[in-house]
Amino acid sequence: MPANKIRVRFAPSPTGKLHVGNARTALFNWLHARKTGGTFILRIEDTDISRSLRHYETTLIDTLRWLGIDWDEGPDIGGPFGPYRQSERIESYRAYLKKLTDAGLVYPCYCTDEELNAERQQMLARGIAPRYSGKCRSLTEAQRQRLESEGRKPAIRFKVERGMVRLNDLIHGPVNFNTNLIGDFIIVRSTGLPAYNFAVVVDDALMKVSLVIRGEDHLSNTPRQILLYEALGFKPPQFAHHGLLLGADRSKLSKRHGVTTVEQLKEQGFVPEAITNYIAWIGGSLSGSQEILSTSEMIGAFDVRKAGKNAAVFDLAKLKWMNAKYLKRLPPETVLDHWLALGTERGLLDKKRLLQIVPLVKDNIENLGQLEELFDIFTEKNVAFSMEAEEVLRADSSAKVLKVMASALQTLDAPRSKDAYNALIKEVKRMSGYSGKKLFLPIRAALTGEMAGPELEKIFCNLDKDTLLHRIERALELKDRSSDI
Ligand code: GLU
Repeated sequence: MPANKIRVRFAPSPTGKLHVGNARTALFNWLHARKTGGTFILRIEDTDISRSLRHYETTLIDTLRWLGIDWDEGPDIGGPFGPYRQSERIESYRAYLKKLTDAGLVYPCYCTDEELNAERQQMLARGIAPRYSGKCRSLTEAQRQRLESEGRKPAIRFKVERGMVRLNDLIHGPVNFNTNLIGDFIIVRSTGLPAYNFAVVVDDALMKVSLVIRGEDHLSNTPRQILLYEALGFKPPQFAHHGLLLGADRSKLSKRHGVTTVEQLKEQGFVPEAITNYIAWIGGSLSGSQEILSTSEMIGAFDVRKAGKNAAVFDLAKLKWMNAKYLKRLPPETVLDHWLALGTERGLLDKKRLLQIVPLVKDNIENLGQLEELFDIFTEKNVAFSMEAEEVLRADSSAKVLKVMASALQTLDAPRSKDAYNALIKEVKRMSGYSGKKLFLPIRAALTGEMAGPELEKIFCNLDKDTLLHRIERALELKDRSSDI
């Protein structure tokens, strides 16, 4: 492998569904790999066994794939630096722990959570930024044995010496950290499992990761990781910490903002093409002023130095706008497949028919969920009238328009062309004396049950004469009933 080959990775913990912010991190890494001809690795960080679930790993993988993000090495496809699941790499962590132990750079810590918490509270009370006091660093062998004989299982801490850690972040520029503020930190938990900072360094080094692109919330971990790289004799990778995805109140996007996971967006009828475009574009991470970009345009416009430099505020309204644009642009087959993936019984029955209808309605929706109702217009005999539609249909002028329309329709042989539609409307206009809203709204309300939707011409051309007449009759009955009261 060439020494300067770009290798990036996305390293989710399988403790829940894919957060939109994490999807953005994955996308940035993917865009960078695809732009530079580098390698994109998926690594599952599942050493927190109390919170990690295999089921979440499967969901993460499915969601990434659904978004159109693929990887070159990963737990499902393998690769030259596997395994790609941390729970299967315990031997490597053990080997590197031995190296640190032999070099005298780590020590066992017997403090319990309660003791550490008490220490923390005391420091806070004294106005000191809390960090580990180093209490167990100087225990004698005899003291250690006594604590072990009490049944205490030690965690392993890394010794942090006084000094500065310098980082030249691709997004933040130079950042200096004073190690005084860090304190000896845990690299192996008392359960024997590696802590995040240790496992991530061993893995990134062994997997030859050249650039770590991740959220700014990890910036404070980076000096610890750099210290470990140095202690283990590894060259640290480059780092790029991007800004986090924020809610409208500019705090990190979280549950209280409503939508937080990609799966929720999927359930709400957003298509993956719109989601990836939106999360790549938001916060000015792509160069140029173009808002809607194809995948290859996105790759071309991506610059890791700019990615996430500014805060990115998640605006659902803007995403809805983008979704509507994508629904218009995407081929009908793709739109239908996305809709079918949401799970519907209808699709299984008449996919062919639905594929004819999708082009008629996809310009009128902003989410896939709206398709269901619009399909009804073309597949059901009756439509349900909305309150507003009922109100329109109760007007005398509407009854007149519909009566004229019914008789004009009856004389038409094959009412299915654009010309026939135009001729019919002209005739109804002439005979009823109405035009504009007074003419079109009752027709729309009668044929669709709604006040807005697909163009009337499309409805006219795609419904048989009987259905058109039947709906007009039902609308007129509604009017008759209301005059009886
Ligand atoms: N497992 C960590 C997370 O999900 C990875 C962080 C990193 O990229 O180093 O936050």
